[in-house]
Amino acid sequence: MSQNTVFCEECRSDVEYIVKALPMTGKIKNKEYRYMGREAHCKQCGALIYVSEISDANLRSLYDVYRTQNGIVSLDIIQAIPEKYSIGKRPLSILLGWGEQTFSRYCDGDLPTRQFSDMLIRIYNEPIFFSELLEKNKGSLNSTRSYEKCRRAVDAILSADSTEERKINSVIRYLLNQCEDITPLALQKALYYIQGFFYAFYKTFLFTEDCEAWVHGPVYRDIYFRYRDYRFDPIGKASAFDSENFSSGEKAVCDSVIHNICCYSGKILERFTHNEAPWLITRGELPISAPSDRIIEKSIIGEYFETIKKKYNMVNPNDIKDYARDMFFRI
Ligand SMILES: [Zn+2]
Repeated sequence: MSQNTVFCEECRSDVEYIVKALPMTGKIKNKEYRYMGREAHCKQCGALIYVSEISDANLRSLYDVYRTQNGIVSLDIIQAIPEKYSIGKRPLSILLGWGEQTFSRYCDGDLPTRQFSDMLIRIYNEPIFFSELLEKNKGSLNSTRSYEKCRRAVDAILSADSTEERKINSVIRYLLNQCEDITPLALQKALYYIQGFFYAFYKTFLFTEDCEAWVHGPVYRDIYFRYRDYRFDPIGKASAFDSENFSSGEKAVCDSVIHNICCYSGKILERFTHNEAPWLITRGELPISAPSDRIIEKSIIGEYFETIKKKYNMVNPNDIKDYARDMFFRI
């Protein structure tokens, strides 16, 4: 029997099967969610057959949609935490003051409550916060070895962060300082265009972070969670920002995006990105409102913005205005 055969109730024998992707709905807490799922059909008679791996994957997709729509931490982030801080699942659970098995259950796919989810997002995003928590609760860990191992990992992250602030954070502070009223949606778009046009002009990406093809356009996940609570409100102006740390190329692209892209609302910019290849290609066959955490590959972003630069004969970053205006009149 090959690996790809399974018992068909109709044919009464082990058969090969074909897998089809299709939109599905599922219910969690009395609410329906749509997601992309898969179905296995008998190759001989076409009957629907049960394959446990496919059923598990469908459940995971449903949970992923639930997580995205309800702002619950993704499974990827949960599973990344022990590795990030070199700590076991049980010690981590204890450190957080939770039941010994609680974190392990979340790692296996259980849905955390909102309160526990917020805590996980915070410790993942804020090594300083995690570091303080580790010091405060280290007495609850029953081995000094696991404390020391974790301490070293956290210290390494903190010292790397302090020597070189992540570029995306400096750019965000610059944007918040220069724009009077930028919403989280518009901020995401601004970061995306800065990433794309910077590559078009200088052949290198400004941010190492990847963005994902969400329903409302390209999104940098961490940044989304950081400003989620502002929803449709402006984030508020950042205090004075010294742009001297930017190279002249970085500053030129940021300034041009601020003048030529950030003058449009987040909703208008959403229509821009919905008409652009990187978002469209990444979403592929997904229905328009289906949540997704697919990464928009940097190579696709780079290629698209290089093409745009060529098409509009852009000589310097100021020329981004031609593209922005053209998009505005075409949508
Ligand atoms: Zn069959």
